[in-house]
Amino acid sequence: MIRFALIIAFTVLCGLPPARAQAPVQVPVSANAAVIDDIVTGSRILADFGVVDGFGHVSARNPANPDRFLMARSLAPALVTADDIMQFDLDGNAVDPRGRALFLERFIHSEIYKTRPDVMSVVHTHSPGVIPFTVSQVALRPVFHNAAFLAAGAPVWDIRKDFGETDMLVRNATIGKSLALTLGDKSAVLMRGHGDVTVGPSVRVAVFRAYYTDINARLQSQALALGGEVNYLTTAEGAKADTVNLAVLDRIWNLWKVRVATAPAK
Ligand code: MN
Repeated sequence: MIRFALIIAFTVLCGLPPARAQAPVQVPVSANAAVIDDIVTGSRILADFGVVDGFGHVSARNPANPDRFLMARSLAPALVTADDIMQFDLDGNAVDPRGRALFLERFIHSEIYKTRPDVMSVVHTHSPGVIPFTVSQVALRPVFHNAAFLAAGAPVWDIRKDFGETDMLVRNATIGKSLALTLGDKSAVLMRGHGDVTVGPSVRVAVFRAYYTDINARLQSQALALGGEVNYLTTAEGAKADTVNLAVLDRIWNLWKVRVATAPAK
């Protein structure tokens, strides 16, 4: 930051416009590299915490092209590297497949990016803590401030409602669209007998939400097991706490990043 300020001061003193003003409108390749690094790191974080196992995926909308998104080839999240990241269009087609195996459920991502222009990242997990709430009549609601985004609601999508008895997978765009419509304007949607999806304005936020959806589900199960009425965060408390969470998110992201960088892949 200091170096950047010095460069700005230098250019101003020399009577030159800041370099930023002369830059082309398109997002430089380095922005993609940063997003890809976040996809790799986020995948490892979620694997390290047991939110994903051999399944699950993290994607990001291409910051340089809103009609494309970035996602790994079919691979366990803990094993994802930058070289595994591929690009897809919003119909779920790989732009340059080169014979690589694709995630069957990439339509979760493509249809949400199509439906929600504000979403820059999508995470799909089979989060063990959340599964009970996908099959129970008890709604997942925020029991602590880190899961504040749940106060806006976390609808449950049941594939059987629109598609009858299936193999439970979001294996085409029609099923993906149904899921995206149930997500609506929320940050999380639960999938009956399957898992959940979280979204956000960045990979870091979507990963944060995937992690805390799982933690909140486990804590809520404990609170319910104690018996009696559970005192959840209100909608207003959730909105206020979420604003703070988003502002301080990089602190925990940097901690998680160091942890997974030094931990062996699981
Ligand atoms: Mn799945």
